[in-house]
Amino acid sequence: MSDRYLEFAHSSYGKTVASVLGLPTPPRLKRASEAWAEQPMDQRYVLVGGDSGSELAAPILGALSRMGAGLRIVPEHSGLGPIKAAASTLHLKLAGNPAPESGEPRSHALVFDASGLRSPEQMREVYDFFQPLVRGLPGNGRVLILSRAPGAADGVAAKTMSSALRGFIRSLAKEIGKNGSTANLLEVSTGGQEWLDAPMRFFLSEHSAYVTGQTLEVGQGPGKGEGVTVALPGSLNGKTALVTGAARGIGAAIAEVLAREGVQIVGMDHPSQEGALGETMARIGGVGLALDVTAADAAQRIAAEVGPRFGGLDVVVHNAGVTRDKMLRNMSPQFWDMVLNINLGAILRINEGLLTEGLNDGARIVCISSIGGIGGNAGQTNYASTKAGVIGYVDAMAPTLSDRGGAINAVAPGFIETQMTAAMPLAPREVGRRINSLSQGGMPQDIAEAVAFLASPAAGGVNGRTLRVCGQNWFGA
Ligand code: NAP
Repeated sequence: MSDRYLEFAHSSYGKTVASVLGLPTPPRLKRASEAWAEQPMDQRYVLVGGDSGSELAAPILGALSRMGAGLRIVPEHSGLGPIKAAASTLHLKLAGNPAPESGEPRSHALVFDASGLRSPEQMREVYDFFQPLVRGLPGNGRVLILSRAPGAADGVAAKTMSSALRGFIRSLAKEIGKNGSTANLLEVSTGGQEWLDAPMRFFLSEHSAYVTGQTLEVGQGPGKGEGVTVALPGSLNGKTALVTGAARGIGAAIAEVLAREGVQIVGMDHPSQEGALGETMARIGGVGLALDVTAADAAQRIAAEVGPRFGGLDVVVHNAGVTRDKMLRNMSPQFWDMVLNINLGAILRINEGLLTEGLNDGARIVCISSIGGIGGNAGQTNYASTKAGVIGYVDAMAPTLSDRGGAINAVAPGFIETQMTAAMPLAPREVGRRINSLSQGGMPQDIAEAVAFLASPAAGGVNGRTLRVCGQNWFGA
């Protein structure tokens, strides 16, 4: 589905009309066109800062240099001690931030280590770093702050300041979205410093074009001690994934993006979609499985399909979902049962069956939730119950998956341009599309990129979390 207003606002006539009428011009978002690159920041610069007590400088600089980023600092910033010390230990060069008139390329990203914040007065170091720099952020630029997760922070002061950063990042994301830039917060809990590579790559690259204003916690992944981090590029190569609802829309995009990363896809959809499913699978070398997710023996039939052919599943993506909207007072029991069964009951039953047979050790499960499950929606008591249920479910199941060396997470899409949203009445559709910091709907690829990141062994430090991919939709925020 296309966003006609965005296209119009970027035409020469549209630019004039938008400027005369004072209408917003949604930015063109740069999205990834290829698989994860070894060095996504090659030929790009990152301005790095930190507070004077910061504790994550070494893993952050290490991750940035592995991405190929040129490292810059603002020499007069007060919090540079830990960064300079880490750069010296790692033998990394820190260049000064060039003057705007120097002709040097602008920095693609601003990365700040706020893990040592202990007082409101120290928050001034955050202000001092970002205030002069945000203006110079190029289109589709990135802001990433790393902090101690409140649950892992030592004491009241540290917890308070970790929380303060959430407000800062949410507000900054709203300020910089106009040019397609994003701002996100990575909260690092115990052991998470060894698992920063993949989340940092995700948030700093084009793979996260529609993710902004979000907080994601990273903890200890499977494996102990130094050197357990798995690189993101190539980490999905040769794996087998089941994607439900794969015939079209978001599910088809998830299948395509996972296939791009070298994954063998088993795409499942309702038997009524067999033709469309076959076409999608043919494009990506996938195998189609025409099966209703609510079938009582769905898990056994999936296991029977993937076991002998592919040796089990490494990734499961529960994407199939339906809406049957009605005010509760008018909702039929059929609408209620159908939505609860497809969107939630089937996920629980299939996972239970696959945990017995069909799922390999180290498997990743990603469930598709919705911001509707976070904000609630008149007419969606059934749908929102299921999508909120998914958020609680991944949280509750995280230890079970972790015990098997794997992880389970959810992605909560905002307004995404698919057949589901095209069926909405015009006025709510147009409002739903614009009320976010990037003034546009997301594309199915945006959800798929987040799923691929979470499905990767390299994202092992993220478990039991829900990541919103919504352009910072104001709904439920
Ligand atoms: P879509 O275009 O309607 O695609 C959903 C697919 O799932 C369809 O092919 C559908 O087949 C299939 N499916 C439905 N019931 C099934 C069943 N019982 N067994 C097997 N397959 C079944 O929807 P979408 O927009 O891509 O959404 C995908 C997921 O994202 C859903 O979980 C949805 O709730 C979630 N989501 C979407 C948005 C958005 O803005 N689009 C926002 C938030 C969350 P049928 O045609 O037979 O139903």
